[in-house]
Amino acid sequence: MGKINTVNVSKKYTFKESLYLVAIIQGMMITLKRFFEGFVLHKKFTIMYPEERRDYSQRFRGEHFISIDNNKTENCTACFLCETVCPAECIHIVADEREDDQNLYGVKKEKKPLSFDIDALRCCFCGMCEEACPKDAIKLSRNYEMSVLKRDDAIYDLDHLKREVKGLKGRG
Ligand code: SF4
Ligand code: SF4
Repeated sequence: MGKINTVNVSKKYTFKESLYLVAIIQGMMITLKRFFEGFVLHKKFTIMYPEERRDYSQRFRGEHFISIDNNKTENCTACFLCETVCPAECIHIVADEREDDQNLYGVKKEKKPLSFDIDALRCCFCGMCEEACPKDAIKLSRNYEMSVLKRDDAIYDLDHLKREVKGLKGRG
């Protein structure tokens, strides 16, 4: 049997680090500072959600949606690029032939998704599906209110992804 190489990861603490009391006192000082700011200076650290909402970064990536054209037809052509690139493997598409519609620019979309599911519980909101999509079909919105009561409700199907919801716009 070959020799197994091991790596010694035990860390040598400095004298200051070995005095845990210093770190504890530093942590307590932050707590006391916040206490003073809140109760003496009446500084607010919380907001009255949902009446008040924080302004999120433009880069925030929230709930997915699929863009639609004027005929309410999804812009997705079932090319599978998003499914292929997804690191969490949480997109599942079944493709079908598109017989009828033409898109806004008069170019025929040859394929359509028969089903298009995203498991939001597996998704890490990396945005790679949005980056990869050649049709600007799949997008991540700025909506962060995605709580559900059942796990099944966190699997977004095509109807859910195509829905028009206020505030469900692409990121800036
Ligand atoms: S945001 Fe990332 S993890 Fe989520 S569906 Fe898109 S590619 Fe997959
Ligand atoms: S959402 Fe975009 S990348 Fe994904 S299958 Fe449809 S067209 Fe292709």
